[in-house]
This record gives sequence, C-alpha cells and structure tokens, in this order.
Amino acid sequence: GQKVVLITGCSSGIGLCIATLLAKDEHQRYYVIATMRDLKKKDRLLEAVGDAYGKTLSLLTLDVCSDESVSECINSIKGRHIDILINNAGVGLVSPVECVSMEEVRSVFETNVFGVIRMIKAVLPDMKKCRAGHIIIISSTMGLQGVVFNDVYAASKFAVEGFCESLAVQLLKFNISVSMIEPGPVHTDFELKMTEHISQKDYPGLDAETLHYFKNVYLPASVDVFQTLGQTPQQITMSTKQVIETRRPRFRTLTNPLYTPLVALKMADESGDLSVRSLYHLLFNLGGVMKISMNTLKCLTCACLRSRTISPD
Ligand code: NAD
Repeated sequence: GQKVVLITGCSSGIGLCIATLLAKDEHQRYYVIATMRDLKKKDRLLEAVGDAYGKTLSLLTLDVCSDESVSECINSIKGRHIDILINNAGVGLVSPVECVSMEEVRSVFETNVFGVIRMIKAVLPDMKKCRAGHIIIISSTMGLQGVVFNDVYAASKFAVEGFCESLAVQLLKFNISVSMIEPGPVHTDFELKMTEHISQKDYPGLDAETLHYFKNVYLPASVDVFQTLGQTPQQITMSTKQVIETRRPRFRTLTNPLYTPLVALKMADESGDLSVRSLYHLLFNLGGVMKISMNTLKCLTCACLRSRTISPD
C-alpha cells in the first residue's frame, strides 16, 4: 500500500523538494505529510505540488524544537502511523567561534540535534510495534569531516551522526532502518542565509588576523566551493528517493562523490594529521586556486597517502 512519509522543514530547500517529488510519484506510492514551523510559509510548496495537494500530500504544523508541537502533530495522524520519517529541518552557522554567543550555539543544537532526537523518540514506539519503519536524516559531509569556521554546525551534525550510528544497531532488531544522507554544498536558502548573515554581522573584538582569514580567505573560497561543487535540491532528492526505494537501505549516502576523498582522508590516517593538514593547505596555501579544489584535494590525498608526511609550511 501507500507509504506515509513525514518530512520536517518543508517550506523551502531540500525538504520542499523531497515532499514535492514523493507527492508527485506517478504510481502514488507515497502519502506525504509535509510539515513546517509556520503554515504561512506554505505557498512555495503548494505551488510546486500543484493538484497533488489534498490527494497525496497534506500539511501540518510542526516545530522540531517543541515537545507540544511534535506530539500534537503526531497525534493528529491517523493511527499515529508513519512509515518513513525524514528529518530535514536544520540551521547553519558560519562564524569565528569567538563571535558566537552560547545562546546561538544552543539554538543550533536545539534544531539540528535535539530536534532530530525529539522526532525519533516520538515515532519510535509505534515503529517498534509495527516492526517496520525507516528513519532518514539529512545530515552533511560536515557530520563526518569538520570544516573551518563551521565549528558549531559541524559539531551538531557530528552529534546526530553519533546518535544515529548508535541507534541503528538496536533498530535493526526491529526491522527499522536508519539512513544518513550527507550532502556537500546545496543551492538553497541555506547558502543565502549564510552569506547574508555574514555580510550583515560585524565582528567586534575579533582579532584582525582571524577577521582577515574569515572574510578574505575563507569566504571567497566558500563561495567558490558552492559555485563549483554545489548540487541542486533535486539531486539530493534523487539520492534520498533511491535510499527509500531499496530493499535494504544503506546507512550512509554521500550525495556528492567529489567529497569521498575528503572523508577518506580521515579513515586513511588514524593520527588525524592527514585531514587537518590537507585542509590547512587547501585553505591557506591553495586558497587562490579553489576553483580546482576537489581535483587538488584528490591529488593531495594521493600524495599524502603515498608519503604519509606533509608539513604545514
Ligand atoms: P533551508 O534553509 O532551505 O531549509 C531548512 C528548513 O528547516 C527551513 O524550511 C526552515 O524553516 C526549517 N526549520 C528550521 N528550524 C526549524 C524548526 N525548529 N522546526 C521545523 N522546521 C525548521 O536549507 P536546506 O539546505 O534545504 O536544509 C535542509 C537540511 O539540509 C538541513 O538539515 C541542512 O543542515 C542540510 N544540509 C544543507 C546543505 C546546504 O548546503 N544547503 C548541505 C548539507 C546539509
């Protein structure tokens, strides 16, 4: 029969795109419960789904940061039955950590970590009873490899990875699958919010050297990375759909194959120096040629693996 799919954060970006594609499935295999914090932001989604609205897609309010909102939403679903939960809601944060308040740190964790845990706790008892279910998390390559000036965001995605890696083992016993989708850069509001946030904020008290690295080295490099390696939400959606539709869903999916060497670096060298120093070289020595960054990275990876030594100068 039709699979009930609940998706968080559907007013924009990847969530909107996944909701739309599943709702428009030609065999109508999915019934999508598209959720968002504020239903006033439903127009973009409704425009995208067209006449699937009311047939294979319905809307519900859901704020992943609120216990009441989550239980109210889930209790309003018929039989509380959800086959597939897609944890997509998330927020980014790019900044030198000295300029981030603890309140901002907490707010990233509230959404990206506690939000996911809250959702999973809410659906788990029913999924276990059914001995079926699939939990999907839109994580990030930054859940596997830290990136400079993304410290807090990476920490939040690492936290989710640790949580899910642990849980996946237990849930196998109940025939419930857990799948991490790990995109690199994706062209959504996420990117926009990041660049807007940085240009609006000033960084009082930050030392001149860090400010220089952040604004004149990291930022242009990051814009370049988005331009050259950025994927579309459609591509992330296709990867997610593939994971949903396989009989034995994989635990981890890097949607952008160009990121595989970055993650492999860490596994290749248990001291961790390989990844830290390669990223250092990439940013500070090769910053000017970020346009060929992934090619550079691949060569660097090979060179490192061969020599196993690389000095930071
Ligand atoms: P986006 O900003 O368009 O979408 C995020 C959505 O989450 C928004 O609609 C937002 O309203 C919603 N949201 C935020 N807090 C919420 C809350 N408390 N309750 C419910 N919804 C909430 O950006 P996106 O790129 O589509 O991001 C989706 C996911 O993809 C995020 O988890 C993000 O970390 C991840 N991701 C994005 C990128 C990228 O480069 N865009 C890369 C890797 C991973």
